[in-house]
Amino acid sequence: MRPVLLQLYRLGVLFAVAWLVRAHHARLRAEGDAPVRVGEVTGWFTNAAELQLDLEARGGFRVRDRDGAELGYLIRTLPQADRIIGYCGITDTLVALDREGHVLGFKIRKSEDTKTHVGDVMDDRHFKKTWNGMTWEQVAGMDLKNAGVEGVSGATMTSMAVAEGIVHRFRVAQGEMRPPTFRVGLRDCGLVAVVVLGVWLTFTKREGRERWRRWFQWVVIGYVGFLNGDLLAQTLLAGWAKSGVAWRMAPGLVLFAAASFAVPWVARRPLYCQQLCPHGAAQEVITRLAPVRWRVNVPAALDRALRWLPGLLLLFVLSVVMLPLEFDLAGLEPFDAYIIRSAGIATIAVAIAGLLAALFVPKAYCKYACPTGALLEFVRARGTGDKFGRRDLAAGAMLLVALAMHWLHAAIHAWVFGAAA
Ligand code: SF4
Repeated sequence: MRPVLLQLYRLGVLFAVAWLVRAHHARLRAEGDAPVRVGEVTGWFTNAAELQLDLEARGGFRVRDRDGAELGYLIRTLPQADRIIGYCGITDTLVALDREGHVLGFKIRKSEDTKTHVGDVMDDRHFKKTWNGMTWEQVAGMDLKNAGVEGVSGATMTSMAVAEGIVHRFRVAQGEMRPPTFRVGLRDCGLVAVVVLGVWLTFTKREGRERWRRWFQWVVIGYVGFLNGDLLAQTLLAGWAKSGVAWRMAPGLVLFAAASFAVPWVARRPLYCQQLCPHGAAQEVITRLAPVRWRVNVPAALDRALRWLPGLLLLFVLSVVMLPLEFDLAGLEPFDAYIIRSAGIATIAVAIAGLLAALFVPKAYCKYACPTGALLEFVRARGTGDKFGRRDLAAGAMLLVALAMHWLHAAIHAWVFGAAA
């Protein structure tokens, strides 16, 4: 009975923290729902002086000049598109239309998605012109797939969420209440195939398993890592906790993540860390290639001290998410480095350092620095001898921290930012 209760406790802590993050961000969003300012539209309407709320069904803003003459119309995708989550968060987009009702362009006001992906979307001139010149009816009636809208390379989910959000908002304005599209693509099928193969390799006892596993590692590095960039990371998990899980835009990735948590929780096997993580696989490949004489034995005291780091990083992530701080969580882990085009310097540095460390200490990054690995390890069952350990105690303490940050948000925020000012 004890192992079952422990597993329920671990799952409960995980869901409770995720729920608190979600509730906290829903509150922050409602409290800080930034109104649209005239300055945001002068790129389209140079003489704009006033945004007049349109109380009709379209629910946008009439853009007027100093004399009250109408220059055009503005529409905002939130809150109507708040169920459309890209890679890891919702996006608030503005669309401008001229007086005749033709789209002039769009811009992202605010996004909870990965910053680099959002930057890629706004830098893509071709994507930015997708709706230019279209009428209300054309945008509302648009089928993105048939129209050949494929998103921005390296930021596909973020850009497709922006596209879905715009079309959805126009449909709502036209009085259509169609739910946002559920998208299943080749990428989702590929990820499901990877999960199935990974599960098979995890449980099979067939001869030659290790040989197959080594081949599979190249698939994981090349396909999951470099081609898709579908790695579990704190940015992704924190984003899903804040905005909701992106099951409409990325069902394959959701299943991939669900299997990565469910298999170790039920069956003790670390599916993701053993089979599916491109960075774990890359470290193993590097360790195999390095001469054995390079191996370094980490002194026991240093080993014990370093093993605290992943847990401390999780606490840091929680603080960044709950306060919230302007800190790009992608820079904390190496995973975004696999999306070479948009990876930040910090991410690349962490990735290279982790791979170099693997030359001397097998899976050094996994053991001493990976918060995502620590989270997956926390939920992993440990069999009949399992007992309430330091990790469980730390997780309970983290839940209390999250609770305090939620309930005492105003005081903590004032203390932190007041002290920093
Ligand atoms: S510990 Fe981190 S880097 Fe290592 S395999 Fe697991 S998720 Fe990947």
